[in-house]
Amino acid sequence: MMITDTTNNRCDQIFLRSHREEQYAVISSKLPNKKLFTRKCVYILNDLYDCRNAYHIARDAFESWIVWNFHSDICPKFDNDLLMLGKKFPVFRNVYCVMLKKKNTHNFLQCDCLLYERCGIPCSHILRITDKIEDNMVKIQHWKVYATHFGDDSELSRKIMDARSLQQCNEGNGVPITNTLLSRCLTPPFG
Ligand SMILES: [Zn+2]
Repeated sequence: MMITDTTNNRCDQIFLRSHREEQYAVISSKLPNKKLFTRKCVYILNDLYDCRNAYHIARDAFESWIVWNFHSDICPKFDNDLLMLGKKFPVFRNVYCVMLKKKNTHNFLQCDCLLYERCGIPCSHILRITDKIEDNMVKIQHWKVYATHFGDDSELSRKIMDARSLQQCNEGNGVPITNTLLSRCLTPPFG
């Protein structure tokens, strides 16, 4: 009983602290379309957007880029590491490949880190290339309207469902981008 109470208190405190942190980050966010997305999504987007500039990019073909940050590829550090296990970890230099895909009239950027495929939020590698977050680059599930209007009897709900099926049809193609943004990406210097 005692343990449960203290554990609960601790959980509540950690939850509140992380909530406050999230709140501050969201309030201070300069993302122009932040009002569209849920709070957690804006928090993650900010972080990914800020990280983008640590990456180097090179366009290695007309429709593909390589993205890397070797400074982030370092040995892990452990507390009390008497056996120096941290130094024995193999460290691989990560180079991500971002490809442009075209389907019908739509353009997509796909990164081989597959963050977007897993979470529905564009990764720092793609943001390094686009330098911009368009509304449709974030999956509809992270939009505020999704949680509030999905499935109710409204025009908005129908639009959300349409957007979701379009998303499903294009699953595996990557992050959708508009023609305007694409031509910006293809015009050096990037960003
Ligand atoms: Zn990526």
